[in-house]
Amino acid sequence: MSQSVSEPPSASPFTSASTGSPAPVLILGQGLAGTLLAWHLHWLGQRVLILDREEPDTSSKVAAGIVTPITGKRVAVSPRVEEFLPEAMACYQRTAAALGTAYFHPCLQVRLFQDDTERTVFEDKRTRPEFARHLSTPQPDPLVAPALIHGPLDGFEMRHSGWLDTRAWLAASAAWFAARDEYRRADIRHADIAVNSGGVEGVQAAGIQGRALVFCEGYAGAANPWFPWLKWKPAKGEILTLRIPGLQRERRILNRGSWLLPMAEDGDGGTICRSGATYVWDDLSNVPTAAARVVLEDRLTRLLRIPWQITGHHAAVRPILHRSQAKMGRHPSHPALVFFNGLGSKGVLQGPHHARVLAEHLVLGAPVPDALDVAGNS
Ligand SMILES: Cc1cc2nc3c(=O)[nH]c(=O)nc-3n(C[C@H](O)[C@H](O)[C@H](O)COP(=O)(O)OP(=O)(O)OC[C@H]3O[C@@H](n4cnc5c(N)ncnc54)[C@H](O)[C@@H]3O)c2cc1C
Repeated sequence: MSQSVSEPPSASPFTSASTGSPAPVLILGQGLAGTLLAWHLHWLGQRVLILDREEPDTSSKVAAGIVTPITGKRVAVSPRVEEFLPEAMACYQRTAAALGTAYFHPCLQVRLFQDDTERTVFEDKRTRPEFARHLSTPQPDPLVAPALIHGPLDGFEMRHSGWLDTRAWLAASAAWFAARDEYRRADIRHADIAVNSGGVEGVQAAGIQGRALVFCEGYAGAANPWFPWLKWKPAKGEILTLRIPGLQRERRILNRGSWLLPMAEDGDGGTICRSGATYVWDDLSNVPTAAARVVLEDRLTRLLRIPWQITGHHAAVRPILHRSQAKMGRHPSHPALVFFNGLGSKGVLQGPHHARVLAEHLVLGAPVPDALDVAGNS
């Protein structure tokens, strides 16, 4: 696998924090990646300056923010969920303490079977301890209200699920860092980034001096000239916002092929929900399409017996790298340039762990595991 690109801590641009250097660590992009990294660097005593161009719809702003412990057609436990989930919960709780509001909402999730294959796989796995620990005990009977949901109505209810209100959490985090003069609106072009030559390692971005610059650009990172060896497989996703008048007390995430996320009451007898999402690889724009709307409405029609109203429709591109593997670490030749990207479809679950690993690498010299190392290409 890859070689580590770590410098010994004494050569790290980050160690200058203790010598009173005024230059912050620049973080380019305030999505999930940049924001989580900013929090972890802050908790390690580092001064940051987050730079973001404040696009209305980005992958992190559009995301439903759902965490699902048992996923996919193979009805499989999400990789390393036992490790990632407690760390994610602790991280969002720690930010909640600073922000004064909790943006992560734990809730149950119902997975309804689409076909016999899913039923068979579930029956095969349901008593395995690593699987069973994510199931509600006992399972509710009936699993869902037949008056609300079209059959078949068999499946299972999961514990350890929930969702991060990403847009609100990002906005609150930006305001928190802005109040410390550690966030600024800026649209930085790659051509305007220069690495210091000679003397102290550092970097300038459009005239702003930093001890280092961490690229957390999401899908825009596919055009980053400093890391051309990375293989990208970005996927556009579209998502609907709905108002559903008759959902009554149903507050669980419902999932059959696509998911329905009840978010809040609208104060008028309706529930604000989101539903999605599509995956498309040949249109990498943030423009919502009529075709995706048809797909999402069709799935809703097959799930819900009750009427709904569409109140919003958004699209963004998920930053997915080869093998859906996040990558991080310093540039092999320019240690002041750092990469953190590829959170893919599971940024809310995996992002807190990955951001901590990168922050500890940069500040404490802890190693980056080979699989995550940006110097590797597979
Ligand atoms: C429809 C949809 C649904 C999703 N649902 C879920 C879900 O339920 N659960 C889950 O865990 N994940 C979900 N995801 C995936 C999740 O959103 C991603 O893992 C995550 O958003 C990636 O965050 P990021 O910070 O890497 O990228 P981004 O969110 O794209 O952030 C990059 C930021 O950098 C800024 N930027 C880029 N270039 C520049 C520049 N040159 N100058 C200044 N600023 C710049 C951008 O404006 C942006 O703010 C979903 C994604 C989509 C699209």
